[in-house]
Amino acid sequence: MSDSFDVVIIGSGPAGYVCAIKCAQLGMNTAIVETWSDTKGKPVFGGTCLNVGCIPSKALLDSSHKFAEASDHFAAHGIGVGETSIDVAAMMKRKSKIVTQLTGGVSSLLQHNGVTVVQGTGKLMAARQVEVTSADGSKQVLSAENVVLASGSEPVTIPPAPTDDKVIVDSTGALTFDAVPERLGVIGAGVIGLELGSVWGRLGSDVVLFEALDTFLPMMDAQVSKEAAKVFKKQGLNIRLNALVTGTDVKGDAVTVTYTEKGETKTAEFDRLIVAVGRRPRTKDLFSTDSGVTTDERGFVFVNDYCATEAPGVWAIGDIVRGPMLAHKGSEEGVMVAERIHGKPVQLNYDCVPSIIYTHPEIAGVGKTEQELKAEGIDYKAGSFPFAAIGRALASGETDGFVKILADAKTDRVLGAHAIGPSAADLVQQMVITMEFGGSTEDLQLMVFGHPTMSEAVHEAALAVDGMAIHMPNRKKR
Ligand code: FAD
Ligand code: NAD
Repeated sequence: MSDSFDVVIIGSGPAGYVCAIKCAQLGMNTAIVETWSDTKGKPVFGGTCLNVGCIPSKALLDSSHKFAEASDHFAAHGIGVGETSIDVAAMMKRKSKIVTQLTGGVSSLLQHNGVTVVQGTGKLMAARQVEVTSADGSKQVLSAENVVLASGSEPVTIPPAPTDDKVIVDSTGALTFDAVPERLGVIGAGVIGLELGSVWGRLGSDVVLFEALDTFLPMMDAQVSKEAAKVFKKQGLNIRLNALVTGTDVKGDAVTVTYTEKGETKTAEFDRLIVAVGRRPRTKDLFSTDSGVTTDERGFVFVNDYCATEAPGVWAIGDIVRGPMLAHKGSEEGVMVAERIHGKPVQLNYDCVPSIIYTHPEIAGVGKTEQELKAEGIDYKAGSFPFAAIGRALASGETDGFVKILADAKTDRVLGAHAIGPSAADLVQQMVITMEFGGSTEDLQLMVFGHPTMSEAVHEAALAVDGMAIHMPNRKKR
């Protein structure tokens, strides 16, 4: 194998492997370095997302949703299924099969595109040399015109709740429980806490989420967060705000959690405790001091708007750089960097990165929230429409939530869209397209939406921006 490449990428998560495929498609001699290996010593591709993140969590969310549907909702459709039961081992086997299929798919794609795979831990040295250390300690050095750092992130740990991979676990451990815990505690009512709390809650766990902040989902539009809190309460998730965990005591198969809530010290006992308080970039030992790459105090690599680091020819993408830690954000950064290395000045519109929480109902948003528009002093108009007035939502018994659209008061251009409800993720994706094309609410108002579809909530929300929704009484007039 030659050890000289046009591009060497460190890390094969959704940021790194997409970048590698794109570089190869553009005709560049590309290598990807991956440290993760399976029990047989073979490299594992796909990073956090495919192995212990997006995909396995969604597999479990879908299994547990079907269980909840069968247990609680089929009867209303006249369907009797008797008493439902869950075979956790079978559910996990299905999840693992999906993961294997997808990670194997990435392996084939890399091979098909002629990407050279180098197994081991990569470290960027001076002058774009990449030192790769194999599991047996042997080293090789690759040299490259361009190096892309894509080493991803790992769960944050907190001193009062050290994980033991049995009773106190991180998100990875929570994807592999061998039984449904009767009592489940979760530290952090963020994205992971809500998704994994929902999985086990639907299957029968009593779930308590401890959130240090006094606001619930502060990054989402406040109206959406308020509706979400109501829906989760109805589903039985016990979300405790302003609750700071100060200690844990594991005895056998149970853990006692000590926390302070509104100044009072309390305790609660659980069979399993998930720590989901955020993730941190994996940049320790990723580059030498003379590589020219620098990080901020939290370990994020400094990059410009185009993911170029301070070292010439060195780029960084995905969870190790600023912005939301989302698979699709990292992948598109990978594409942008590949195009830029190849000479095309592609830009990524960071204002149009959607974020989604895959609970049921889904929660999704893109662009500005109403509280951001207020804080920035932007003159805006807002319209929202409830799913309870959408025929298709009624037909499928999915009437919680709404779609909300925010537009510039003068130009009518869409500035943000937020939804909680059935297919919220896909509806917000329609708004991503609208925003990318610089669309206005009038564009949406004059567009034909299929009937009966959930998308009609987008149409009606756009009409509601001007007080002209058809299928509900409007509060304001044009
Ligand atoms: P990673 O996916 O972390 O991949 C980095 C890769 O680099 C890994 O394979 C690692 O082994 C390798 N590596 C690290 N250091 C080295 C080195 N020195 N040498 C060689 N290789 C190295 N995001 C979404 O958009 N949607 C979701 O639904 C979603 N769900 C999630 C659910 C969970 C439970 C979790 C934990 C995360 C979820 N995320 C989701 C976040 C998403 O997984 C990450 O944003 C995404 O994986 C980041 O991609 P990345 O390529 O930057 O890094
Ligand atoms: P998060 O930032 O979404 O939520 C962490 C929560 O924990 C926050 O609400 C925070 O206030 C709280 N917290 C922090 N320290 C605490 C403490 N000591 N006690 C109690 N609460 C505390 O982080 P996460 O849920 O761990 O997810 C990590 C990342 O993974 C996120 O950035 C997210 O973008 C990504 N992710 C995305 C998806 C998705 O796109 N659907 C799913 C899972 C994870």
